[in-house]
Amino acid sequence: MKVTFPHMGNLWIVLKTLFTHLGLDVVVPPPCTKRTMELGVRYAPESACLPLKVNLGNFLEARELGADTIVMAGGVGPCRIGYYAAVQHEILKDLGYEFDMVVFEPPDVHFSEVWDKIKYLNRRPWQEGVRGVILAWQKACAIDALEQQLHRLRPLEEKPGQADLIFRKALEKIDEANDRRSIKRVYKEAESELNNIHRRSINPLRIAIVGEIYTVLEPLVNLDMEKRLGRLGVEVVRGLFISRWINDNLFKGIMPLPNHHPEKTAPPYLNHFVGGHGWDSVGDAVAFSRSGCDGVIQLAPLTCMPEIVAHSVMPSVQQDTGVPIMTIYLDEQTGEAGLQTRLEAFVDMIGRQKNNSLNKGIINI
Ligand code: SF4
Repeated sequence: MKVTFPHMGNLWIVLKTLFTHLGLDVVVPPPCTKRTMELGVRYAPESACLPLKVNLGNFLEARELGADTIVMAGGVGPCRIGYYAAVQHEILKDLGYEFDMVVFEPPDVHFSEVWDKIKYLNRRPWQEGVRGVILAWQKACAIDALEQQLHRLRPLEEKPGQADLIFRKALEKIDEANDRRSIKRVYKEAESELNNIHRRSINPLRIAIVGEIYTVLEPLVNLDMEKRLGRLGVEVVRGLFISRWINDNLFKGIMPLPNHHPEKTAPPYLNHFVGGHGWDSVGDAVAFSRSGCDGVIQLAPLTCMPEIVAHSVMPSVQQDTGVPIMTIYLDEQTGEAGLQTRLEAFVDMIGRQKNNSLNKGIINI
């Protein structure tokens, strides 16, 4: 069995660690590129969600490397996530590729199925599997903590790109690390290198990124938005990280991570789950606006129903908090020049708003 999975930001490091400890032969899909997107777009229905298309491209590229089994997350609720795996499986079959698909539904809905699938995949004593879960979790936390420092540093560094280089090298070492001590050492080394970067003394704008998980975490899909904002002198903050997703969905919030509770922050704008990350997007937009962010950017795949619902209440959030919110829908047609222009205009506008606090009020976008 040669296992592969969807590529989403740095999630591959976490999944590779976990599956390796389960005793599986792991085929990491190559990083998402234009080719990945083109492959997915060529074979997926035009109206399918963008993540479905890119993931299909991941599977086709992994197939070229010998993968024969796909492990992915399923979903329940009002949006199309529940059909994802079945649609992809049929497309791959039509193309003549026989993949075994193992789809994990949320554990609170189908716990016994989740357990059966873990048993199906596991090739080693269960203690080794537990060790893999712990190690994967520690890697997720280290990556996310370093990424937050990267977000803080990007707008400040005198020589742009240094922090990204340190982060990339740290990712390689975290991938290779095989115990907690090694992860800690890599983290400390990277942290000290980041601290030694020469900084400009400016007070950067802070923009929160909220939205659908794939568009937020995968740089190919959002055209490296965080890096672009960093270059425009913006510190990016976000609540959506791999560790948060694992904690919220798999560990049921038992780990001591910063709390994000859409059930507390999203009402009265949105009072219940609407599928995907729509509720979280509203909750995070409210929380970040109230905690001093200068602007919020909501990211969504074109036609993503939960984010469309979230988008519909963002004007009220903006009106009540006075913090500008811009929604960006992304698909395979999204062009770099258009996106850059929108980001520059947004940053320019919130910069002026900040400089003229008397004028702080509603801004229509
Ligand atoms: S959350 Fe949005 S992008 Fe994801 S499956 Fe649902 S509709 Fe598609």
